Formats: sequence, C-alpha cells, structure tokens
Amino acid sequence: MRFVKEQVDLQPIVDTVFAIVAQAKQAKKELGEAAVVDATIGSLYDENGKIVAFDSVFGTLKQLPNEVMAAYAGSFTGNPNYREHVYDWVVGDRSKLAHSVIATPGGTGAVSITVSEMLDEGETLILPEICWGSYSLMASMDNLKTRSYSLFEGGHFNVASFRQVCEEVMQQQKKVVAIINDPCHNPTGYSLSDDEWNAVIDVLNELSKQGPVILLNDIAYIDFAYRGEAARDYIRNFDRISENVFVIIAFSISKSMTAYGMRCGAAILMAQKQESVREVEIVFEKAARAIWSNVNNAAMETFVSVITDERSSYEAEKDSYVQLLRERSSIFTKEADACQLAYYPYKEGFFVTLQMEDNAQRDAFHEALMKEHIYTVKVNKGIRVAVCSLPVEKCYGLAKRMKDILDTL
Ligand code: PLP
Repeated sequence: MRFVKEQVDLQPIVDTVFAIVAQAKQAKKELGEAAVVDATIGSLYDENGKIVAFDSVFGTLKQLPNEVMAAYAGSFTGNPNYREHVYDWVVGDRSKLAHSVIATPGGTGAVSITVSEMLDEGETLILPEICWGSYSLMASMDNLKTRSYSLFEGGHFNVASFRQVCEEVMQQQKKVVAIINDPCHNPTGYSLSDDEWNAVIDVLNELSKQGPVILLNDIAYIDFAYRGEAARDYIRNFDRISENVFVIIAFSISKSMTAYGMRCGAAILMAQKQESVREVEIVFEKAARAIWSNVNNAAMETFVSVITDERSSYEAEKDSYVQLLRERSSIFTKEADACQLAYYPYKEGFFVTLQMEDNAQRDAFHEALMKEHIYTVKVNKGIRVAVCSLPVEKCYGLAKRMKDILDTL
C-alpha cells in the first residue's frame, strides 16, 4: 500500500552537493581556510568568503513599508508594474512579438510551470545533456520522459544533435518542448553566438511544420554575462519564429538581484499571435493560482524600485562582481589551457566545468581531489568548479594542481 500517487518515484532526493559542501566546511574547520579549496558553493561569494548581497537591493527592501511586505500581490499573475518592468528589463525594445509576463516563485517556478503545463503525462521533455539537475526532477514529478541533446561539437553548440533529438521527439509525439539554458549555461558557462541562435530558430521553424514547438529559454544567469546588455541581443532573433513556435523565457531575480531566498522570477511568454499568448497566459494564471497563489510582494516591489530608482548604484555594484567573476574565471581557464586540463567551452558565468567523457573516471578524479582537500561538484560528464564563490587567490595554481592529480589516476 502507498499513500502518495502511484506514478511518483519514492527514491529520496540524493543531495550530493549538500554532502560535499558539508565535507568542505568540515575540512576548513579541521585544517584551516588556507589548506582547503572549496569550489562547491553555487552562489556569488565575495573575496572574504561571504555571500554577496547587494546594498542597492537590500537597502531598498528594508525601506519598504511593512504594509507592502504584508500584502498579497496585486494578482495571481503578479503585480502589473512588476510584469511590465520584467519585460523591459529582459526584452526591452528587442522584439515585436505578442507577449505577456507571469510572475513566478523564482526561475524554478517559471521552468516548472512550463514543464507541467506544456506537456501531457508520458510525453518527452528535451534537455541539454549536461544541465541543472532540477529539470529532470520536474519531469519525473509530472511523469514525463526526458531526452538529451549533446551540447558541444568541436567547442561549439551542437546544433546537429539538437536538431536530431527534436526531430525524433516530434515524430513520436507531434509536439516538442525543449530547454536551452543560455546565456551563461549552468554548469559549463557557454553562451550561444548569434549564428548559433539563428540556427536553433531555423530548426524550430522547420520542426513546427509538423506540430507545436515550445522553446524554454532559461536565462537564470543572464545578468552576469560579461557582454553586459549585448548578452540580450540574441532575443531579437526570436522575432523570426513561425506561428507554431512559442517561446517562454524563464527569468530569475535570485542571481540578478543576489536575492536567492526571496523566491521571485517570471515566465515571459512570446509568440507571433496574441491569441497564442493568451492561451498560455490563461493556463499559467490558473496553475499559478492553484499552486502558489501569488508571488512575494516585497520581492516584486524591490525589483521595480531598484531598477527605477537605484539603477545606477545597482549597475555599479553588479559590474564590480561581474569583473571579479571574469578575473577568477580567466585565471583558472588560462592556467588550465597552459597545463592542458580540459574544460567545456567557457564564455561567461558562475561555473567552469572540467570535461570528463567517462563518469567512472570523473568519480575517481572527484575522490582524488577531495583527498587533496579540493572540493568540487560532480555533474554529468564533468566536474563543476564554482568560480562564483572561489576567491581570486584560490584560483591561482588550482588548474595545475587538478591536472597533476588527474595525471596520477
Ligand atoms: N535555472 C538554472 C540553470 C539554475 O541554476 C537555477 C538555480 O540555481 C534556476 C534556474 C532557478 O533559480 P531560482 O529558482 O532561485 O530563481
């Protein structure tokens, strides 16, 4: 006999990240900070090992009247000013597509509502081969299957693999829902070029002759791209989608505002026809009401105030950390190049991931690193190095140490 629904998997979540984070903490306690490299933590940390919390954001939050923090949001789809500002912040004048915005609890809410509402039970969700673990969990909670496309071919986005997997799924179920986490892919730090995006859109348009195609573009890390505003320009290409293609952009204030615990984000809905947008908006509004009812009012109001009244101080703070990320990652990748430690093509963002074709070899390497008090996180076919939380001085010499350990295996 079981009490929960039949389809759901009863295996508990194995939080491998948490376990390694705890081991790294313990090692620091026993051996002292200097003896340990802790590259496990996936949030932005400063050079003194503290989580970054922008003054421009939390100063604004603390100025909000208690009544604003106490109140429900203005609607199930989010406060109207928040919805408008999210659209301007992410898309601005780059698109003429019909659109709407639904506030969600974090980027997680935007991704999960899409996974739940765009596919029927038993259907297949298309994911990158190396990706954020929650995508598969979401699929399994909704009793969906998954297929993965290979991410890279010769240092570039593997459009051919993306096309092939999408075609196979389209043939089977006459519908495609595919996730592309870009820019600043978690965990490789890859960002598609404009040409690669155009090739993706060609694939989607071609596929859409056979059935509806939904692209879920997860942009969780977009505000830490090294190209600044230009990192949003690929969105212009979405205007070329056919009428049978629908784009959902999953936005998160967790990283953009260093506000992970405030649980706020948005699903930006885009299509050629207003009626298509309205169809999805109706279903998302109902799902939002049914699942979380409404989104943190203080978080929405803070986002709006920061980008209207505190924009320049926010930009200055954020830019200083973008520079820091760039410095940390470039030390690590330059040294990795020098000693031929292979990593996936990194362009920008929170993580660099070492390339490990064989997961058994990856496991052995990960263990060997820990013996030398270098703590990292295992991902499919890789070892994730969280430069977002690794101080500059710890980045120096790390690649060579890792390569030496790898060579002993
Ligand atoms: N997408 C990716 C790739 C992520 O790594 C994360 C968080 O780590 C999210 C989405 C969602 O973040 P949140 O729900 O905190 O906005």
